[in-house]
Amino acid sequence: MLSIWARNIAPSPTLAVDAKAKALRAEGRDVCGFGAGEPDFDTPAFIKAACARALDEGRTKYAPTAGVPALRRAIADSYNARGFAVSENQVVVSPGGKMSCYLAILATVSPGDEVIIPAPFWVSYPEMVKLAGGVPRFVPAEDSAGFKITPGQLRAAITPRTRLLVLNSPSNPTGAVYTEPELRALVGVALEAGLFVLSDEIYEQLVYDGQAACHPALFGGEAAGRVITVSGFAKTYSMTGWRLGTLVASREVASAVADLQSQTTSNVTTFAQHGALAVFEQPALARAAVAEMLAHFDRRRLSLLAGLNAIGGVRCYRSQGAFYLFPNIGAFGLGSDEFCARLLDEELVAAVPGSAFGAEGYVRLSYATADATIEKGLERLARFCGRLRR
Ligand SMILES: *Cc1c(COP(=O)(O)O)cnc(C)c1O
Repeated sequence: MLSIWARNIAPSPTLAVDAKAKALRAEGRDVCGFGAGEPDFDTPAFIKAACARALDEGRTKYAPTAGVPALRRAIADSYNARGFAVSENQVVVSPGGKMSCYLAILATVSPGDEVIIPAPFWVSYPEMVKLAGGVPRFVPAEDSAGFKITPGQLRAAITPRTRLLVLNSPSNPTGAVYTEPELRALVGVALEAGLFVLSDEIYEQLVYDGQAACHPALFGGEAAGRVITVSGFAKTYSMTGWRLGTLVASREVASAVADLQSQTTSNVTTFAQHGALAVFEQPALARAAVAEMLAHFDRRRLSLLAGLNAIGGVRCYRSQGAFYLFPNIGAFGLGSDEFCARLLDEELVAAVPGSAFGAEGYVRLSYATADATIEKGLERLARFCGRLRR
């Protein structure tokens, strides 16, 4: 018999939807894919060129576990320019933001510890907590509250066994962005209770409507020591396949994370790290690349949002971050799994059921896809929903 880890793990439902859509496409079917959690742009050329140069120069050997020194320093400098006061040994570069989150959880959660996760949540948090022997405790972030939890809800969920609060703003799957006062209030409650806070800021640069993501680690007092800040290159620079995540934490947590990494993955691919370094060495190009992608995302966000809300029975919150919309489909009387399965079968539209994110009655649509796909996908979705209402 396989281990309890193997038996208890649920495979990633978002990757599964994406795989099914890709398989249908490989059969020549015209699938409109809203399932993918990745930008549809190529990685900016200057980043690829820096990586190719590193490969040519023979940077193909092991690097220090926690990251290439120049990259760790550049990441520390970049946070310090935003008000942090961290040294490079508080920075760990890991194979993806996903791994950064997992190692942060392994470094802080012991068997039996409880971890508070606002729901809807990113699919991996509960599974990672379980792999650490911890117990996920969900707090519902209601649609009517902009998919945000309140300090009162958080306080009520804390028990003597609670160790960690997971925050993800901008959020996958809802696109909700907490304001600074809202986050300050939540982090205040967590710190008062002596919790660690995992702040997953992977979408920090993908914000709209004049919103700005903020850093809970800067909230003063205990925050710098207790907040673990995770980010990465995947979503901001369209580098999902490069596997490059970052973690900034207290010296104690960062060195525990580096030790865990030293016995598991070792360093991130050395030449990939040199590619990422170009983001800091050529900041004007990096800013321009992000601004261009952001303009496309924002246009698509607004057209998908308007199209969804024009479909009878669909109600969609105006998300302000990441590249997802999370419409309510409760009016159709189908579970989200069945809704998405039939949508793919009958109309070749791929979306991820809300059940995957702990939110029945919703589906997640990614607008990191071509404008033409959004237009065609909306027509198909409208036809599908029209049939369900008859
Ligand atoms: C995509 C994503 C990550 C990490 O992605 P990587 O590809 O592992 O860098 C982390 N958190 C959330 C919420 C994400 O959506």
